[in-house]
Amino acid sequence: MDLDNLLAYQKADMRLRRINGTLAGGEKKQKVDSIRAAYSEESKRAVAAEASATQIMNAYAEAESQADELIKRAQELGREDGNDETIARLAAVKEELAKISATLASLKAQSEKALRAYKTAQENGKKYRAQYEQATKEYNEEKSKYGSEIATLEKEVVDLRAKVDAKLLERYDSLVGQRITNPFVEAAGSNKSYSCGGCFMALSQSLADTLEKTGFCQCDSCKRIIYKK
Ligand SMILES: [Zn+2]
Repeated sequence: MDLDNLLAYQKADMRLRRINGTLAGGEKKQKVDSIRAAYSEESKRAVAAEASATQIMNAYAEAESQADELIKRAQELGREDGNDETIARLAAVKEELAKISATLASLKAQSEKALRAYKTAQENGKKYRAQYEQATKEYNEEKSKYGSEIATLEKEVVDLRAKVDAKLLERYDSLVGQRITNPFVEAAGSNKSYSCGGCFMALSQSLADTLEKTGFCQCDSCKRIIYKK
């Protein structure tokens, strides 16, 4: 079996995976993600505060027009003769008006609170936005450091993969799929006292025999393919 192509492929593939893993799980990427999450929280808060402020304003406008109606009625009653019935109706209107005034005052306080919440969310959002831009810039700088290497490796991986023996490739892919890094390792040690080049466990006699006979065996402990050149 042609191991050289596989080993060259493994080297490029592992390096590319390591770089991508570093970038994806790196501190700078995590920072970008966490700031984006905080920003999106503030945006939601701003939208909710705005919706609530609108609702309060509508209620305020409605209460205000009710108050106008009541004032008009009070004025009309005031022009009528001051008999008992008129006086009673005027008192009722005034009572109603006092209630509406209290409602208006409460709505005004609520709307001020909603507007403050909106403003705070807006300000926080702006702050997070600036932080997000800075963190993205730093992440992109880190990424661009690897940029040309990534491009070279990506091409290498495609080219080499086409040359690797199909059976070897299948085993390689299966082991990588099990999250095993560097699935093909050279046997360590020498005749009679082999150990795995990946996890350094000593090979059993039967595995050592297989290795001697076929040039390959699979480590019992880490499942890597051990080869002998
Ligand atoms: Zn092993």
